[in-house]
Amino acid sequence: MFKNTITFIALATPLFFLIFSTPPRSSYHSLYISSSLSDNASISRHLYTLTRRPHVAGSQANADAAAYVLSTLTSCNIRSHIVSYDVLLTYPVSRSLTLTPSPQEAPTTSDLTQEIYEGDPYADVANEVLPTFHAYAKSGTVSGPVVYVNYGRVEDYAKLKEMGVNVSGTVVLARYGQIYRGDIVENAYEAGAVGVLVYTDRKDYGGGGGDAKWFPDDKWMPPSGVQVGSVYGGTGDPTTPGWPSAGACERISDDEVARREDIPKIPSLPISAANGEAILRSVGGLVANDDWQGGADVPVYRVGPGPGIVNLSYEGKQIINTIQNVIGVIEGAEEPDRFVILGNHRDAWTFGAVDPNSGTAALLEVAQRLEKLQKRGWKPRRTIVFCNWDAEEYGLIGSTEWVEENREIVASRVIAYLNVDSAVYGAGFYASATPQLDELLKQATQQVQDPDNSSQTIYESWVGSSNSPIIGRLGGGGSDYAAFVQHVGVPAADLSFGEGYAVYHSMYDDFVWMMKFGDPMFHRHVAVANVWGLVALRLADEEFLPFNYLSYVNELQKSTEDLKGDVSDKGISLIPLFKSIEELKKAATNINKQRKAIEENKGWASMWKNDPWKVRELNDRLMMAERAFTDRDGLTGRPWYKHLIYAPSKHNDYGSTSFPGIGDAIEKANNLDTAESWLSVQHEVWRVSRAVTHVSLVLNGELT
Ligand SMILES: [Zn+2]
Repeated sequence: MFKNTITFIALATPLFFLIFSTPPRSSYHSLYISSSLSDNASISRHLYTLTRRPHVAGSQANADAAAYVLSTLTSCNIRSHIVSYDVLLTYPVSRSLTLTPSPQEAPTTSDLTQEIYEGDPYADVANEVLPTFHAYAKSGTVSGPVVYVNYGRVEDYAKLKEMGVNVSGTVVLARYGQIYRGDIVENAYEAGAVGVLVYTDRKDYGGGGGDAKWFPDDKWMPPSGVQVGSVYGGTGDPTTPGWPSAGACERISDDEVARREDIPKIPSLPISAANGEAILRSVGGLVANDDWQGGADVPVYRVGPGPGIVNLSYEGKQIINTIQNVIGVIEGAEEPDRFVILGNHRDAWTFGAVDPNSGTAALLEVAQRLEKLQKRGWKPRRTIVFCNWDAEEYGLIGSTEWVEENREIVASRVIAYLNVDSAVYGAGFYASATPQLDELLKQATQQVQDPDNSSQTIYESWVGSSNSPIIGRLGGGGSDYAAFVQHVGVPAADLSFGEGYAVYHSMYDDFVWMMKFGDPMFHRHVAVANVWGLVALRLADEEFLPFNYLSYVNELQKSTEDLKGDVSDKGISLIPLFKSIEELKKAATNINKQRKAIEENKGWASMWKNDPWKVRELNDRLMMAERAFTDRDGLTGRPWYKHLIYAPSKHNDYGSTSFPGIGDAIEKANNLDTAESWLSVQHEVWRVSRAVTHVSLVLNGELT
C-alpha cells in the first residue's frame, strides 16, 4: 500500500491530501504494537481486580466482575452492554469419600479440602471457593472395590481387559491429564463402573514427586490441590439444545436433561494427589504397566480390583441461574456490517488468574490501546466486537447461547472470531486456527518481539529450528471458539503463551501464582495483546481480507493421506475427497489471482481506489467459504456439530481430529466390521467431499 501512495503523490498531490489527510491504517497498526501504547502495569491491575475473589458463573462475584469489564470497556469509548441468559448450572451440596483399605482395617474418611498455606493473602475469601466437585456430576451414593484405570482412555480399558480385570461394578480411580474429564466419566460408565474418582498424579502435576516443592514455593500443585471442572459432554445450556436460553424460552424437562447422552450417568468426584495416593496404596492385584506408574516416591501402582473399597457420595443441585456476557462494539467506518470478534470468558472455577482472567486482562488492554488509536484519528474499516463470555467452564454456555441467538447474523456478517481463554501460563507462543488464517498469524508474529527473548520475534521463537511453526486446529471443545467454528463455520483462532499449568482449576490459580511463576513482569500479557490486537486490526482494516485458502488445501490433503491407512484395505475409495480437494486448490488459486487483478486493473479514473463493490464481492466469498464446510444435518448422531472438518473426537472432547464424521464411522465399522458399517464410512467420505466442493463453489462465486 505504501508503494501505491508514493506513485499517487507524484500524480495527484491535491487528491492525496483529500484522501490521506489521516495516515493510512497500517501506520496505526505499527503504533498499536509499539511500546509507547502498551501498559503492563495496567494489565496487572486489571488481573488483580478481576481475581480478588472466586467468581464462578452465576455468583454475585462474577456479576461484579462483569460490571468491572463493562465499565472498563465503556471508559474506553466502546459502546457496551450486557446480554443475560438463564441457564442450567450446578453447584455442590454435599460430598463424602470413605476408604476401607482392607477388610481388617477401619474405614478412613477424606476431608476433601484444599489447604490454605501460611501467609496466603486470599485466606479470608477461601471459604468462597466452591467445595471441590464435578459440574453436572450425577448425584448419588455408590461403593465398590477400586480399579486403577490410568488416564481413563478407551485404550486403557482395552489394556485392563487384556489383563483380565473386570471393571464392572467397581469404582474406578483415574488420573487427570490426557483426555477431557467428561470423557473419563463416560468411558468408565461404558466399561460398567458405578462411580469415578479422578486425581491429579504428582508425576503430572506435582513436579514429578520426590523432592519437588509446590505452590507457593514452586509452580506445582500442592498435594491437597484438586482440579475441579465440568463433566458435561455437550455444548451450551443442557435445557435448550440448539436454541438460545433467552427470555421465557422452551426448555426440555429435568428427565430429558438426565437422559441426554452427554450428561453423566454415574457419580464422580475430583480428588487430590494425596487422596489418590492413599487409595492407590489400597489397590492390589496385578502390577500396572510402566507407563501407568507414578513419580519418584510412591509405591508401585497395581490395578485391582480392591481390596480397597471406597464409598463415594455426591449430591449437587441443578438450578436455572442468570449468566452475563459483556459485549462491546467499535463501529466500522466503511463496512459497519462486517464484524471481527475478539472473545474471552470471565467466569472461573476459583480465582481464575490464569484461567481465564489473564485473557480478560489482555482483552481490556486491547480495548485501551484501541481507544488510544481512536484518539489519534483511527477508525476501523469494519466493526470490531469485544465479547466477554460467562459460564464457559460449565460447557461453553455463554458463547454458545449467544451464537445460537445471533446465528443468522453471525453466519452472514462475521469475518473471524479470535479467542483467548487463558492468555498466559508461561513462556512460548501457541496458536490454533482454521487454516486460512495461518499466513496472517505468521505475519503478525513476525512483527512482535518475543517477551522472553528480546533478540528475536515471537515468530522466530515459535518456529524454532523447523521450517514452519506448529499451528493447532480447532476441532476440540476446549473453549469458546467451538460454537463459531463447529456450529456456524466462522474462521477462528485461539492464542496463548505457555501450555498447561499444574494448578489448573484448583484454588491456587490466583494472582500470587501469576506474579511468581506465570508472568512476573506481565510482558507475556503485553505480547498476547500485541498479537491478538494486531490480527484483529488487520482483519478489520485491510481492504482485502488476509485469508489464504491454499493453507486449507494442504491441510485437507494431509488429513486425507492420513485416512488411507485406516480404510485402504476395506474397499473405501477416497478418490471423491481427493478430487474435491484438487478443485478447491484451483478455486483458492483463482481467488488469489482475482484479488491481484483487481489491484492491477485500477483505471485512471479510480487509480487511488479499487472498485469497492468488486472488493466487497471478493471479500464476501472469502468470508463465506468457511461456512460451506458445514452441513445442515451436522455429524451423524451429533447434529449440533455442523462442521465436517473440525469437531471434537467422540471419546476425547479435547482432542482435535480432522473429518470427525469419517472418524466416528470408522470407529463403528472397526467394532462391527459389517459390509453395511463400511458402506457408512464411504457415505461419510462422500459427505465431506460434497462440503469441500461447496467451498470451491463459494470461492468461485458463480452459479453452476
Ligand atoms: Zn478457560
